[in-house]
Amino acid sequence: IAPDDATNSEELVRRADRALYRAKSDGRSSVRFFEPQMDTHVERRIQIERELRAGIAASLIVPHYQPLVSLDGNRIIGFEALARWESENLGSIPPDVFIPIAEETGLIGLLSDQLLRQACLAANTWPRDFILAFNISPTQLRDPTLGLRILSIVAQTGFNARRLEIEITESALVENTGVAQSIIDDLRQAGVRIALDDFGTGYATLSQLLSFHLDKIKIDRSFVSRLDKAGDGLIIVRAILGLASGFGLITTAEGIEDAEQLACLKANGCQEGQGYLFSKAIPANDIPALLNLASPTSAVA
Ligand code: C2E
Ligand code: CA
Ligand code: CA
Repeated sequence: IAPDDATNSEELVRRADRALYRAKSDGRSSVRFFEPQMDTHVERRIQIERELRAGIAASLIVPHYQPLVSLDGNRIIGFEALARWESENLGSIPPDVFIPIAEETGLIGLLSDQLLRQACLAANTWPRDFILAFNISPTQLRDPTLGLRILSIVAQTGFNARRLEIEITESALVENTGVAQSIIDDLRQAGVRIALDDFGTGYATLSQLLSFHLDKIKIDRSFVSRLDKAGDGLIIVRAILGLASGFGLITTAEGIEDAEQLACLKANGCQEGQGYLFSKAIPANDIPALLNLASPTSAVA
C-alpha cells in the first residue's frame, strides 16, 4: 500500500511479491500484507538454499544416530539416523529447517540417498542384530521407484534389509495413498520394516492407517511430554498403546526425557523408547564408546 510501504512502483511491486510469497506458503486463501521481516526471511532462505546445494554436492550433511532402547531391560537395540548439517558459512542448521527446503527444491532424493548410504555403512559396524531406523520425507513417497532405490542402496552397501526400518509420517501416507502402498509393499517384501512416525499428529483416519501394513507406531513426543501433567497425556498414550497391541504393532515412545515418563510408559506396556534420558543423536564415531562404556541401563538405574 502506497505510500506506507513504498513510494515508487518497483519497490511496491517487490514488496507485494514478498507478501504474496508468504501468503502462498501460509496456505490456501491467506491474505498477507508486507512486513519488513519478510525480506530477512526470504534472503535467509535463498542463502540456505544456495549453501544446501553446495553442502549436498560436497557431502557435508551427515547422519547422527540416536539410540533406540528396548524398555524391557533398557538395552540399546539400534539407532535412528538423524541428518546433521554444519554449514561453513551459516553454522549449524537444524533438519527442521533444511529438510523442508530440500523437499521444495527437489534436492531431497539426492540428499536422502547420500544419507542412507552413509547410515548403512555405519550400521554394518554395529552389533549384528541392531536396527537402523531411517526417515523418509512425504515428498519422496510420490516417487514410485523409491522402494527399489532404497533396496539398491541397501544391497550396494552390503547391509541386511531385515535390519532396516523406514519411518514414514501419517500425513505422507494419506497424501500419496496409492504410490505409498506400492513402495511399502516393495520394501516389506524385502524384509524392511515400516514405522509410522509422529503418530497422533496427522490427519489420517484409523481405517486409512490400517490399510497399510505397518510394523511399528512411534508415539509423538508431544504426548510423552504431557505424561507428567496429570490428565490427557496419559489417556492418549494408553489409547495408542491399546490400539497398537490390539493390531499386533510394536510401539516406540519418542522424546523420553525423565524417569517418571519412562516408568509410566513401561507400566502401560510400551516396548521401545527414545529420548534425551538415554542419549541425544551422536556422531557415528562416538557409538563404540556409548556401547562399551555407558549403557543406557546405567544412565537410568
Ligand atoms: P523425527 O523423525 O520425529 O525425529 C525426532 C526428533 O526429536 C529429532 O530432532 C531428535 O533429535 C529429537 N529428539 C529426540 N529425543 C528427544 C527428547 O528427549 N527431547 C526432545 N525435545 N527432542 C528429542 P531432529 O534431529 O532435529 O530432527 C527433526 C526432524 O527432521 C525429524 O523428526 C525428521 O522429521 C526430520 N529429519 C531428520 N533427519 C532426517 C532425514 O535424514 N530425512 C528426513 N526425510 N527427515 C529427517
Ligand atoms: Ca523419525
Ligand atoms: Ca518422530
